[in-house]
Amino acid sequence: MRQVGEMAGSDTTRRRDEIAAGLARVERRITDACERAGRERGEVTLIAVTKTYPASDVRLLRDLGVRDMGENRDQEAAAKAAECQDLPLTWHFVGQLQTNKVRSVVSYADVIHSVDRPRLVEAISREAVKQERRIGCLVQVALDDDPARGGARPADVPGLADLLEQAPGVWLGGVMAVAPLGEESGPAFARLRDLAAAVRERHPRATTVSAGMSDDLGEAVAHGATHVRVGTALLGRRKPFVR
Ligand SMILES: *Cc1c(COP(=O)(O)O)cnc(C)c1O
Repeated sequence: MRQVGEMAGSDTTRRRDEIAAGLARVERRITDACERAGRERGEVTLIAVTKTYPASDVRLLRDLGVRDMGENRDQEAAAKAAECQDLPLTWHFVGQLQTNKVRSVVSYADVIHSVDRPRLVEAISREAVKQERRIGCLVQVALDDDPARGGARPADVPGLADLLEQAPGVWLGGVMAVAPLGEESGPAFARLRDLAAAVRERHPRATTVSAGMSDDLGEAVAHGATHVRVGTALLGRRKPFVR
């Protein structure tokens, strides 16, 4: 595999320009959405979802001022985090998580967005204590009835939040969701905002609301998202697109 240092200079420059343009567009959308919602730009953190893209893109993003990176597959994420160990980054694990991957994910992730069952809380906590790490955890909420996409049922969210608040080695950050397919995202994000408020009432420091991706980040910011997870709009389409 080519390393960034070996990459032809003009390739790097071209890719940097591409990413800079994507970042400028995304920044503009976040700023506009904040303005419309009467919120400060500083209330929203941009997480660049770098899945399928190389570590060299992570470096370019960091050069352009992005500090938060998101990944959804352990194997890929572990390799990329190792390649970028010299960079001051916050790694967010946003994918569905099997308990047998927890040991690895805990070794590099700073925040896990996809905590949706008690067994996962136990596994993350146990591993974090063993590795002497402190992992931020978000309760992932299912905003529809599709179990394939992960997430706890809304009724189970308070209980999971309580478990995370008490477990050693982890801290409760707040909630996360993916907008349901084939449904308007606004009402779904409004439900998430209400759940987030209920969690915050019991756990005032759990202020994170992770919602919004390339297509619906404005809607998410309008409904109180504090973190948006953006891949395509920053880095391009992940799969070849045939017209
Ligand atoms: C891939 C992914 C994203 C980013 O999606 P884009 O549409 O490419 O912006 C956000 N959140 C999760 C959980 C993802 O898996």
